[in-house]
Amino acid sequence: MIELRTPTQIEQMRPAGRFVASVISALAEKADVGVNLLELDELAHRMIKDAGAESCYIDYHPSFGAMPFGKVLCTSVNDAVLHGLPFDYTLQDGDLLSVDFAAAVDGWVADSALSVVVGTPRQEDLWLIDVAQRALDAGIDAARAGNRLGDISHAIGSVARGEGLSVNLQFGGHGVGRTMHGDPHVANDGQPGRGLKLRPGLVIAIEPWFLHSTDEIRFDPDGWTIRSADGSRGAHVEHTVAITDGDPLVLTARA
Ligand code: MG
Repeated sequence: MIELRTPTQIEQMRPAGRFVASVISALAEKADVGVNLLELDELAHRMIKDAGAESCYIDYHPSFGAMPFGKVLCTSVNDAVLHGLPFDYTLQDGDLLSVDFAAAVDGWVADSALSVVVGTPRQEDLWLIDVAQRALDAGIDAARAGNRLGDISHAIGSVARGEGLSVNLQFGGHGVGRTMHGDPHVANDGQPGRGLKLRPGLVIAIEPWFLHSTDEIRFDPDGWTIRSADGSRGAHVEHTVAITDGDPLVLTARA
């Protein structure tokens, strides 16, 4: 079911957006060579407690997970790109890290992700992150009343295809509201002018993610961590966006 939020409700979602943005910023700052993924999870956990927020991940247990997630953060390193379950791993020079974080404040959820390289970057990783960011920007710019869902998908996919990347359609964006995952599914490629008509009050997570040389994925035995099938690295960026009467409102915009 597609739910539309009133302007008042969208205002009520702002604290969740600001909080999630602050955690993503803190994680990006802390991520460095020698930092353990479990320390990043602990940092996010502490920020949740201090803010009186609620984790969307810790008890999350959809059919594909082998067990409840148990952590408050997704950390995906190198050939892992989505849903990475934080584990005892110390970041090494040149690692490509994607963090994905969702939490509720006052009963409203926000969801955001970003990729960073720690230590000495590989140029191709910086390029991959840049492509994902440009695809996100294009998707956000298409998130306007009167457009259709396919316009967002097409905007994202066009950036990726224009750079020679192929797009996986199994995992993409989603509605956000009282819970983390709602309708509609926001695919990372699609036909312009097709699909749901976008109306003010629709709040969605837009989340392009791309792999260097494949769109095929495989799951770790933990049931969560998603890796490229060919070992190539991935990047993932995400914002929670409200469609308004005017410009798209990026609720998780970072200061
Ligand atoms: Mg997310």
